[in-house]
Amino acid sequence: MNDLTQCVLTPEVSTAGFDPLGVGVHRASTIVFKDAAAYAARGDRGHQGYSYGLYGTPTTRTLEAKLTSLERGAWTFLAPSGQAANALAILPFVAAGDHVLMVDTAYPPMRDLAESDLRRLGVDVEFFDPLSPEDVARKMKANTRLVWCESPGSTTMEIMDLPTVAAIAHQAGALVGVDNTWATPLNFKPLLHGADIVTEGLTKFVSGHSDVLMGSITVKDSALIQPVRALIGRMGIGVSPDDASLVLRGFETLGVRLRHSESIALEFARKMAEHPLVSQVLHPALETFPGHAVWKRDFLGSSGVFSITVAEAAAGQVSAALDAFRLFAIGASWGGTRSLVAPMSIGRFRSATSWTGSDLILRLSIGLEDREELWADVERFLKALQERHAEANNLSPKAAVRHG
Ligand SMILES: *Cc1c(COP(=O)(O)O)cnc(C)c1O
Repeated sequence: MNDLTQCVLTPEVSTAGFDPLGVGVHRASTIVFKDAAAYAARGDRGHQGYSYGLYGTPTTRTLEAKLTSLERGAWTFLAPSGQAANALAILPFVAAGDHVLMVDTAYPPMRDLAESDLRRLGVDVEFFDPLSPEDVARKMKANTRLVWCESPGSTTMEIMDLPTVAAIAHQAGALVGVDNTWATPLNFKPLLHGADIVTEGLTKFVSGHSDVLMGSITVKDSALIQPVRALIGRMGIGVSPDDASLVLRGFETLGVRLRHSESIALEFARKMAEHPLVSQVLHPALETFPGHAVWKRDFLGSSGVFSITVAEAAAGQVSAALDAFRLFAIGASWGGTRSLVAPMSIGRFRSATSWTGSDLILRLSIGLEDREELWADVERFLKALQERHAEANNLSPKAAVRHG
């Protein structure tokens, strides 16, 4: 072989004895076949075989296998983001004339998908109260194809009685999908509580370092594999093995990161609940939280993300007080090593329920910084809030607390 050809061809080297702990990054579009017959029969390789880079490489399959096992599912597909996973969990299963029920507290882009695209494609969409299986039962129709759930609810953290809702859906022949991003498969296993499909925003806790976007769809039964795989193929959606490798690396420390964040989040939630200007702490592991009993029954732990609302009288000062944070960064997403705070407004994202609390909700994501320094940062914010509230109302800071 002359040099030009040698430059192109890959020499075979032995991999015997090379047993690394890390997962190799296999980049590929083309996968070659040993002969023409094997190429012609590539379709027979099925969802477990390799035929083209878009349909999987050993790197992406390793991540999929880890998720399939943790979720107790039949198969997992990766998507370029958590929201892509959500969309791809619904689209294969609905057609014009079908009816979809979606939880009122779904991740806002899911509401948008339902109200914009599903409706445009002729799918009838209705929203239901996360706290009311009766509302689901009342709204089920003969053509209800899918019930989409998320628990806890985005931002406001309502815990659904998933087994009851799933039983109602299944009795009417509908599929049940659950966005499990908050809990991760370590803290909740929706497929063991009635769901047929579970999605994860791996972008958050699972990857854990705020530097990669990815999502997953895990199906419970093998009958659900082909519809999802076929649509993903037709839409030409796949993930890069480099990104999958980042998620695999983060995954290895998920257990300790999550336990650490969970413990600090719960401690902070309890302490913040005592502050006079904090009106509500929305955290399912608090004994006083409305969905606590169901959370305790079904979940294996909580998470590092919770929300608070501040007293109505001080709500106008929150935005300025946020600038007092020095460790907590202000930003969207969560589940990374850096603690985050984000002011959220949810009023326009509710239709089947009405949120009666303040429409300024602060979502906190606890990262891996030092516990005491992080709490000092929270105290800086609360102090700034108190001072600004007092100034705005011409009160002494002490009186501001009493009037808060
Ligand atoms: C962030 C989030 C997603 C989407 O994840 P991306 O990877 O950012 O698209 C989905 N569901 C929930 C509940 C989320 O919080």
